[in-house]
Parts: sequence; structure tokens; C-alpha cells
Amino acid sequence: MFKALVLNQADGHTAAAIETLDESRLPAGDVTVAVEYSTINYKDGLALTNAIKIVQQYPMVPGIDFAGTVIESAHPRYRSGDKVILTGWGVGEKHWGGLAEKARVNGDWLVPLPAALSTRQAMIIGTAGFTAMLCVQALADQHITPERGEILVTGASGGVGSVAITLLNKLGYRVAAVTGRPEQNGDLLRSLGAQRIIERAELAQPAKPLESTRWAGAVDTVGSQILAKVLAQTEYDGAVAACGLAGGMDLPTTVMPFILRNVKLIGVDSVYCPYEKRVAAWQKVAELLPESYYAAASNEIALEAVPEAAAQIIRGEITGRTLVKL
Ligand code: NDP
Repeated sequence: MFKALVLNQADGHTAAAIETLDESRLPAGDVTVAVEYSTINYKDGLALTNAIKIVQQYPMVPGIDFAGTVIESAHPRYRSGDKVILTGWGVGEKHWGGLAEKARVNGDWLVPLPAALSTRQAMIIGTAGFTAMLCVQALADQHITPERGEILVTGASGGVGSVAITLLNKLGYRVAAVTGRPEQNGDLLRSLGAQRIIERAELAQPAKPLESTRWAGAVDTVGSQILAKVLAQTEYDGAVAACGLAGGMDLPTTVMPFILRNVKLIGVDSVYCPYEKRVAAWQKVAELLPESYYAAASNEIALEAVPEAAAQIIRGEITGRTLVKL
């Protein structure tokens, strides 16, 4: 038997309840994992509050990422006792996810836990930190080196934003952080490595097709008007890695930054990232994040507190990463 947070839907409303289930209820898969930690990501917030249709079928155990220990495996890469990480692949959306004491998944979706990390640290990083690493790598792939100038991070207090700031700072970039909560989170963002704090309101106005250039590159987690503004302010040959929609899924921009300034808009998806790239990103994020990060930007909750944390992440009230201990 194991404990799980289960989502059910009736009359268009989603209800979350903690249930004790028999192992026979676990979905098909060749690896069964004793989940030690999961997390609350923005997507989990969307799934639990039903703000956007994330969950494809009910009943569903949400939780788009987890880390734990293999209990049973028929997959050639894993044996009982191995420590593993899972992010993405539709887990918590189409396939039961990490907000349960046990999970059964396709072994191809797993990544071995890097030696330098505990399962707890891996989930402080989680999907958000892994995605931040992919964004930072996307900028490096576009030759956006620290000498090129300042990098802007939007949604700075969030899971992706806070790790992106930390990673960029560690790699020697100058970082400016956009936040809607400068009083509450300014000190934290500076301690993570942001040299400059920019109030969200400054960027949340309609963008002109081209504006004075300010950024060599950017990691954008919010989309919409702010992403349009960032594109209009990006320097010649600059690049913006876009991974999120916390501010909206539209993009009211023009072609001008692309055709007159050679600006690149790079889409970043973590869900179906291929295995080799995944393993490399996990190794790199484990290497780069300083020990201080894990304490500074995370808090831990029990399964019972997940529905409230999900509502808070959608209201933009969460800072850093929220860990769920199973
Ligand atoms: P969080 O909720 O932790 O962070 C989002 C941050 O965005 C908030 O902390 C807030 O920061 C800012 N924000 C909130 N509301 C608004 C708004 N209306 N306008 C502008 N800024 C806002 O989420 P995550 O960091 O986990 O995820 C960020 C985004 O990235 C989400 O859209 C998520 O779905 C997406 N994502 C995409 C992935 C992919 O594979 N492409 C993987 C992981 C996440 P502040 O208060 O500092 O302004």
C-alpha cells in the first residue's frame, strides 16, 4: 500500500484527496520507484487548480517530477537500489506522477542521480532548475558569452528564474532580474547573483517594434507583453531563451527585432528533452549550483499541504522551489 495525492474531476471541478492505494493501481512501466521527494512546479499548480487543461485523464496522481530509489526494475539501465530522477515525459499529466510514495514509469524517462547530489537536492533543482540549465545552455549555444553584456531573467523569484540567476552568476555573466515583488525578494535575488533588480511594471507596457537596446540575452519565463518588450530591447545578434507563460501565452511582438537586429528567440522545452542532453544538463547543474543555493531558495512541505501550495504558485506567491517530502 502507498499514499498518493489523487485528482478526480466531477462537473468540471477538480478535487484533490490523499488516498491509500494498492500497488496494483500503479500504471504500466518497467521501473518502480520509492519516491523520496517531489516538488510543486507552475505546471502542477495549473493541474491542481485546473487553470489550464494539463491533466489528460482522471484519476491522476499529479507531480511532474520526482527523485527516489528504484524498488524493482526490468529496464537494462537500472537495478533495485539505484537513485534516479524523473522530470517531464507527460508524467503527472498523462501518466501518474511524483506526488505519491511510489511511482511506476518507463525506465527510458529516468536519469541516474548525479553522484554529487542527494535526492533532496535533485528536487530542489527539479524541472524548474533543469529547465533553467537548458535555457542558460541555449544562450551559450548562441555564443552569448559573459563579455557580450547583461543578461535579463524574467519571473526572477520563481523556480526557473531563481536557478537561472544562480547559474548565470556562477558562469560569470552580469544578471538583471525582473520581479513583481522587489521589496519582498530583492535581497534574495541579489544574494543569488542578480546585480540589478528591475520592477516588472517597467517592462509590462506595450513594446514598440524596436526600443533602445539593453540586453545581450535573456531567460524568459513569463511570455506575453514582457517577452515582447525584452525582444524589442535585445542587442544586435542577441538571443532570448523562452520557456514559460507565467504572464500569459500570447506574444504581441513584430518581426523587427528578428529582421533588423538578428535577434534569436530560442524555444526551450524540458519535457521531451532527449536522454543524452538531459544527462549532460543534470551533470552541469549539479556542478554549478553552490551549496548555499539549496538552503537559500527552497522550502519543504508535506503531501497534505500540496493543494494550498498549488494555489499559491498560480497566484505568484511562491518564492524559489517548493519541495514535497514523501
Ligand atoms: P513560478 O511560479 O515558480 O515562477 C514564475 C514567476 O513569474 C513568479 O515567481 C513571478 O516572479 C513571475 N510572475 C508570476 N505571475 C506573473 C505575471 N502575471 N506577469 C509576469 N510575471 C509573473 O514558476 P516556474 O519558475 O516553475 O515556471 C515558470 C514558467 O516556466 C511557467 O510558465 C512554467 O509553466 C514554465 N516552465 C516551462 C518548462 C518547459 O519545459 N518549457 C519547464 C518548467 C517551467 P516575480 O514575483 O519575481 O515577478
